[in-house]
Amino acid sequence: MNAFSIAIVGAGPAGYFAAQALQNLQTDNLKFKIDMIEKLPTPWGLVRSGVAPDHPKIKTVSKVFEKIATTEGFQLFCNVELGKDITIDELTSNYDAVVIATGSDRGRRLGIPGENLRGSLSSAEFVPWYNAHPDYVDVDVPLDTDTAVVIGAGNVAMDVARMLALEPSELDTSDTSLHALELLHSSSIRKVHVFARRGPEHAAFTSPELRELPKLEHTDAVIGSCDIEDAIKRAESLGEVPKDVRSNLDAMLSIANTPSQNRDRSINFHFFASPIEIKGDQRVEEVIFAVNKVENGKVVQTSDTYSVKTGLIISAIGYEPEPISGIPYENGKVVNQEGRISDSNMYVVGWAKRGPSGVIGTNKSDSAAVIEHLISDLKTPKPNSGIGKL
Ligand code: NAP
Repeated sequence: MNAFSIAIVGAGPAGYFAAQALQNLQTDNLKFKIDMIEKLPTPWGLVRSGVAPDHPKIKTVSKVFEKIATTEGFQLFCNVELGKDITIDELTSNYDAVVIATGSDRGRRLGIPGENLRGSLSSAEFVPWYNAHPDYVDVDVPLDTDTAVVIGAGNVAMDVARMLALEPSELDTSDTSLHALELLHSSSIRKVHVFARRGPEHAAFTSPELRELPKLEHTDAVIGSCDIEDAIKRAESLGEVPKDVRSNLDAMLSIANTPSQNRDRSINFHFFASPIEIKGDQRVEEVIFAVNKVENGKVVQTSDTYSVKTGLIISAIGYEPEPISGIPYENGKVVNQEGRISDSNMYVVGWAKRGPSGVIGTNKSDSAAVIEHLISDLKTPKPNSGIGKL
């Protein structure tokens, strides 16, 4: 019987699904001892610190992770940081294979003047703040402003907008961190403006997230019907509209056609606008937007601008990985071939492998495919391997 020791670095969804794939492929002649290493005191990665607290159903995947964790041969080592408490060399020389599942947790930057003012945050700070990530407890989130601006047209921007615009009592029974809940209860924010740099047909939102907006109890969702009708015309002029785009546009049209209830709280969507400057004395007071237009299928900034007065701007424009010494990176990903990291016994899964895209479930098939490569590469087990030997 061959028993191999595998280290998985990172206890998020991609890491757990990699462990699950290893467990599923065990036979009487092939066994895996899995050591998972996590720098935080708690496991589950984005399921704990990324998923919006008003979406508790998404977090039920943690039951699957619990089952993986209680399967024979699996051990979790929390509070162990790669590069600080243990090195890549120690892992690669003591394990038969090492799976990097460290995700992508730095927020991409807008790169515009004023981005460092107080009141300008990235979703990479705001989201873990409201989700009780221990490293983000002290993030300064000024909510003493009636208007907030969110940049980006993806599901993270949508989560951020909802968290700012919901009536806070709706979060009382959620697992929003207590420090965030307390501040949200005293928040002055009533209008949240979400800005997309392209048109509705190019938005990265997914339709289930859009379809829940008209059902919000205390918050109006506002989209201009002309914006969506024009987007439908543009999309149809290019031929058959892809299913996901059609579904998004239908969901946005339905929001646009929902009569406003003139509630105090609203999420307002704007398209073809890029922030070019954040102005303010000590803190954010105003954001200047350039109007974009489409030219030969590409979005270009025009010289037209407008300004929005706000005390809070949160950019939710994607993520990039925090580099780990000894691992090659390019274009915001670990350099890999279908999850293999060349000239090593290392593999990569999740956002570190493919970039910051896909929902939690995407990691299941993605990690399983990488684990098949890993198993096909295994030769003979290293003697005395595993973290207990370090
Ligand atoms: P995303 O889906 O890639 O969206 C990023 C958005 O930022 C895009 O609209 C992009 O516009 C925009 N953007 C990028 N650079 C910009 C710039 N310089 N200025 C203005 N806008 C800019 O990323 P995400 O929202 O971070 O989500 C990451 C993944 O997690 C996605 O797959 C998402 O579906 C998933 N997720 C899922 C859920 C859920 O299932 N409920 C919740 C959260 C996240 P362009 O398209 O023009 O580049």
